[in-house]
Amino acid sequence: MNVSQRTMTTVEELVEAGLIDRADAPALAEVAARYSVAVPPAAARLIGRPDDPIGRQFLPRPEELRDLPEENADPIGDHSHEPVRGLIHRYPDRVLIKLASVCPVYCRFCFRRASVGAGTEGVLDAAALDAALAYLAGHDEVWEVILTGGDPLAVSPRRLADVSRRLAALPHVKILRAHSRVPVLTPERVTPELIAALTDSGKTVYVAIHANHPRELTPEARAACARLSEAGVALVSQSVLLRGVNDDVETLAALMRAFVETRIKPYYLHHGDLAPGTSHFRLPLAEGQALVRGLLGRVSGLCQPAYVVDIPGGHGKSPAGPAYFHREAQGWSVEDWRGIRHDYVDSVGQSGSPQT
Ligand SMILES: *Cc1c(COP(=O)(O)O)cnc(C)c1O
Ligand code: SF4
Repeated sequence: MNVSQRTMTTVEELVEAGLIDRADAPALAEVAARYSVAVPPAAARLIGRPDDPIGRQFLPRPEELRDLPEENADPIGDHSHEPVRGLIHRYPDRVLIKLASVCPVYCRFCFRRASVGAGTEGVLDAAALDAALAYLAGHDEVWEVILTGGDPLAVSPRRLADVSRRLAALPHVKILRAHSRVPVLTPERVTPELIAALTDSGKTVYVAIHANHPRELTPEARAACARLSEAGVALVSQSVLLRGVNDDVETLAALMRAFVETRIKPYYLHHGDLAPGTSHFRLPLAEGQALVRGLLGRVSGLCQPAYVVDIPGGHGKSPAGPAYFHREAQGWSVEDWRGIRHDYVDSVGQSGSPQT
């Protein structure tokens, strides 16, 4: 396979690299016209076959042209909570800022696929950023600012440093979080300048690392994550449960262990959102719950992510994991990690102060 040294963004380049069949090119060109394609070298090197767990995440497929009626260009309802352009304020104490609408790699299952890509504005413009920062200055209940996109670490370190400097002037903002694919799939971008652009905010900085298969955690990716950790950035993970990528317990266990080995605390395992043309990636909720149940006890507590669904319509995330406690006629029973039920006595003392 002839892996290019730069990011491939056209079907023709993918054909030339031997990643897709020439016969499929016309259908895939139609897909690429609808949803941007980008396969950076670090991702391309991981693809063995087009339908392997890495190829499925990044190579366009004809199934993407098939939309289901329940699928939606804004599957998690971003637009219903967007008081200023690019800023989403859904929960009281935290806001998202969509700093970029481009990514170094385009995931074929992306929940924001209708609003990210080559045809979009790219980075949030100065006027929108000014309005977002003015909004934050006027909302001192905002404790956390989450940079998202697109990929917020795809913007230049200079631009990121500017945002960081302006957040530093807002004392009520304690936490700066960025959700990114960069450390894993374009690790060369994790430079001292990029790291300083985050840490110079003076905030407690978290980066949520997006990866879906253990093979993505290459030595280069792990080294980029280590550079962040060593600079004092706390790392958490974010993955999407995907058919043909990580839809078995062994792969999920290996992925979560790879995160923990890299000092990334598993955080979210997302159920697939109802983004257009992504039904071939989704699993039934019950299958997702069974997989998550399979992780309990089998791998360390450090390796347990929260399985979550983003409720369509903008109602936020809810835990979607299996239930282990069951109401019985009297009290409760609880299932252990092997699936065996035990009675549980819900014993509490009398309220009021103890007699002495
Ligand atoms: C997901 C999301 C967050 C972050 O949620 P956490 O549960 O804190 O990770 C914040 N705002 C919006 C609009 C979101 O969609
Ligand atoms: S990196 Fe995130 S925003 Fe970008 S394509 Fe992938 S899922 Fe979508």
